[in-house]
Amino acid sequence: MTLGSENKLNFPKKKETYPPQGVRCQRCLEFGHWSYECTGKRKYLHRSSRTQQLQKRMKQREEEKLK
Ligand SMILES: [Zn+2]
Repeated sequence: MTLGSENKLNFPKKKETYPPQGVRCQRCLEFGHWSYECTGKRKYLHRSSRTQQLQKRMKQREEEKLK
């Protein structure tokens, strides 16, 4: 038994207000961290994929035909 190992187990971690609860990252849209601390990939809210944009465009064309 060594005191050193026991100390390691009870090593006091600094408990600040992190991760901030209820905080949503504006970058990857995940909760629990700020956008400037984001390590994830950036997500776009309104930018859809190419296929989705194409489908949207086709849908708009169809709606124009109906008018
Ligand atoms: Zn993030």
